Amino acid sequence: MRKKIAAGNWKMNKTQSEAIELAGAIADVVIPDNTMVILGVPAVFISDVQTAVEGSAVQIAAQNCHQELSGAYTGEISASMLQSMGVEFVILGHSERREYFGESDELLAKKTNTALSQGLKVIFCCGEALPVREAGKHIDFVKNQLEKGLFHLGADDLDSIIIAYEPIWAIGTGVTASDEQAQEMHEAIRSMIEAKYDIETAAKMHILYGGSVKPSNATELFAQPDVDGGLVGGASLKASDFAAIIKA
Ligand code: PEP
Repeated sequence: MRKKIAAGNWKMNKTQSEAIELAGAIADVVIPDNTMVILGVPAVFISDVQTAVEGSAVQIAAQNCHQELSGAYTGEISASMLQSMGVEFVILGHSERREYFGESDELLAKKTNTALSQGLKVIFCCGEALPVREAGKHIDFVKNQLEKGLFHLGADDLDSIIIAYEPIWAIGTGVTASDEQAQEMHEAIRSMIEAKYDIETAAKMHILYGGSVKPSNATELFAQPDVDGGLVGGASLKASDFAAIIKA
């Protein structure tokens, strides 16, 4: 039985004191037994947030890492640095990284390998832009992203992967995929995994939905049979909203 996951992505938001306050408030939320809570925090605040959530079940994700383990890459953060700090997860392939930082599927495959080599778990994002959906090519598009970014991995490695389906047209726009649109894609992703690997691997895979998840739509979205929770941007920045999403 797959657990439900509420993962927040704070992006480039919050000051140090605000991050500590928000993390502390989330750490106080009573997390249902079947639920995992992950906070994707800015790297500079990881240590502060780890202290703020100490003693709770809240886990930490970084929002990116470099494909190399060390070297002359000014300003970058490596998977080994994250591992050495006890970080559990890293978000890779977010559409903002793909779009604003030119991250290709090939680069993301490398980053994924590097993160896994350091024992990190990867929240791997995929999702189509509006014109792709309007052209009815959304499932093929996501399949291509997964084939290039993830499906070189062995079935055992997939235990360390969470897939986040995030249609770009729903991220930060207030427009959410309908329950049916989310379920259609999640079911398709699970079938892709079954076709590439096997039925057990597909059944175990956590697939999150991301794109304007809010307290008002989380319950219905998370009730879809192939939706295992959410990757939440805007609504993870307010403790009361994220607490409601954790409960959902
Ligand atoms: C995200 O960026 O991962 C995201 C889903 O953002 P929002 O919830 O704000 O749409």
